[in-house]
Amino acid sequence: MNKKEITDKELLEHINSIQKDEMDVFVMANGRIRGALFHGTTFVNQMRAQHKLGILETMVLGQGCLCGALLIPMMKGKSKIAWKYQVDGPAQGFSVESDSSGSVRGYLLTDNIPVDKPLENWDLTPFLGNGSMTFTTIRDGDKMPQTSTVEISNKNIALDLATYFEQSEQIRTAFQTSIQMDKKGNVIGAGGLFLQVMPSTGGTKKVGSQLNSSSDWQDDDELLSKVEEACKKIPSIGKWFSEGKSIEDLVNTLFSELKPAIPVKRNIEYFCPCSQKQFLDYIRHLPADQVLDLKKNGPDPLEILCHNCGSVYHIPTSDI
Ligand SMILES: [Zn+2]
Repeated sequence: MNKKEITDKELLEHINSIQKDEMDVFVMANGRIRGALFHGTTFVNQMRAQHKLGILETMVLGQGCLCGALLIPMMKGKSKIAWKYQVDGPAQGFSVESDSSGSVRGYLLTDNIPVDKPLENWDLTPFLGNGSMTFTTIRDGDKMPQTSTVEISNKNIALDLATYFEQSEQIRTAFQTSIQMDKKGNVIGAGGLFLQVMPSTGGTKKVGSQLNSSSDWQDDDELLSKVEEACKKIPSIGKWFSEGKSIEDLVNTLFSELKPAIPVKRNIEYFCPCSQKQFLDYIRHLPADQVLDLKKNGPDPLEILCHNCGSVYHIPTSDI
């Protein structure tokens, strides 16, 4: 990836004055609830710089990429998740890829989301729509990737993702993302949270196993109401981080009753592993007649755009 600079001086000063990006993975209520809180102000700004996104586009892809970051602590072993979100509204959707090593990349299906009237707020509902969501998981060592698709209709990216986990893995899950902008439209704070209530029976049930009855939840009424109460008090996460406040303080403030412990801290960044060499290798493996045609007829140099990170590579045909 050709890492693009965040050029706005005032924004840079602000980013340097607040806490650094970080993800804290936590457990609470004796391990019954797990979650992660991600501070991703630099992360969203890097994403925006890579793709030179407008305000609305930053809100949509930013939410997708923040959710993509929150998938990382759920991943088992070395793996990748490719998440395609497609809707019939003006935003069309996005593709986001998360890597268990801690990187996320993604792009919008349309670069410019059409807006037909002035926006009154940051409600994205009018720009989303009904559609489908496809998850492809590629685990190291697996011969074939695993793919599953669900219908979506919430017109809300975080809610659609939570619905997927409830349907496909039978785990109560909540996602929340938040992007705070200043008057100039700069992203001054961004972050996200996920919470999962693990099944109680036996205590050994694996993620993804079938819950046999709804009684699991009834027994958990007290626990769930405590979680719900805590969730009602969640401030705007983006605003929290924009004010320089820390992840630990937010976790401990919100969930003190559930006795959270933070065993893992992770670095997550917006990053794409693409390179000039990778594209060159790809071109060299095209069918021989196509390679010959490129060498002979150009254009020279070839200009290649990586959709995932907006990097542009110029490859002289003499290198092919
Ligand atoms: Zn790339």
